[in-house]
Amino acid sequence: MILLSSCLAGFNVRYDGGNARRPLAVKLLAVGAAITVCPEIMAGFDTPREPAEIQGGTGADVLAGRARVVTKSGADVTANYLMAARQVLAIAQKHQVTVAYLKQKSPACGSKVIYDGNFAGHRIAGRGVTTALLQQHEIRVFGDEELTKEHVAPFLSPAVVKLLDKHNLVE
Ligand code: SF4
Repeated sequence: MILLSSCLAGFNVRYDGGNARRPLAVKLLAVGAAITVCPEIMAGFDTPREPAEIQGGTGADVLAGRARVVTKSGADVTANYLMAARQVLAIAQKHQVTVAYLKQKSPACGSKVIYDGNFAGHRIAGRGVTTALLQQHEIRVFGDEELTKEHVAPFLSPAVVKLLDKHNLVE
């Protein structure tokens, strides 16, 4: 089973009320090859909501207690992000997820790039809190930029690949 960020599958769960829909994500969900999670919704936030960023490090630092997650107005939401990461991990383990494709730049879902904590649009190399926890438990996490048929196919059963091809469900 593949784990996807809910916003990639078209759900309007982003902080601005929108999504980051990728047709392949929708199709993987449609054929039962994927499940979706939104750590920020699972953390109890509304949509739309204030943006949040990691200050003082990256997702791994948050897990280690060396950094925190704050909203743009300064509220410390670290505990919410940690709780959500643990929930996502439990769901992933229950569904025997071995690989995830999560939205880049998010303080929860980022896998290569996140924002630097100054809410000025500056990016740094790093992972979000949920991604860091999943990777600590041997789950491979890729960014949405790698969500292509060629990249995903090795993680799908031949039957699912055949189904996607048969119904022209890939771009
Ligand atoms: S990037 Fe992750 S936390 Fe942000 S809206 Fe998408 S699924 Fe939710």
